[in-house]
Amino acid sequence: MAYDYDPENIFARILRGEIPNKTVLETEHCLAFHDIRAQAPTHVLVIPKGAYVNFDHFGAEASAEEIVDFNRTVARIARELGAAPGEGGAGYRLIANSGENAHQEVPHMHIHILAGRPLGRMLV
Ligand code: IMP
Repeated sequence: MAYDYDPENIFARILRGEIPNKTVLETEHCLAFHDIRAQAPTHVLVIPKGAYVNFDHFGAEASAEEIVDFNRTVARIARELGAAPGEGGAGYRLIANSGENAHQEVPHMHIHILAGRPLGRMLV
């Protein structure tokens, strides 16, 4: 996989504790924290601790254990925030901007969890 990971990107610096964050949950393989420019009442970012540039990189190279931990963490946060439809919540949206056309701003794999209001039907 042809990815050059920049160890000075802002999420790498958050993982190293160089920049503060509002942590929601930390597990062995990932960290979840509030987005600094929230687009919805709930706007949480989940990032793997491993050095992956985007979803493509993560999906291809992360271990099964990292991927399972990541997915379970996303689902757990949505549940704990009261957004999980299976538990009476009103639902949530997951977004993983990957690369230029998706306007990925931070080159460390992350998923946005958006919830807390109707989000509209558009995908873009
Ligand atoms: P992207 O466009 O998917 O890469 O989105 C990156 C997100 O990171 C944006 O929603 C930013 O608001 C968010 N962000 C950037 N810097 C920080 C920070 O220091 N703490 C929390 N969120 C951040």
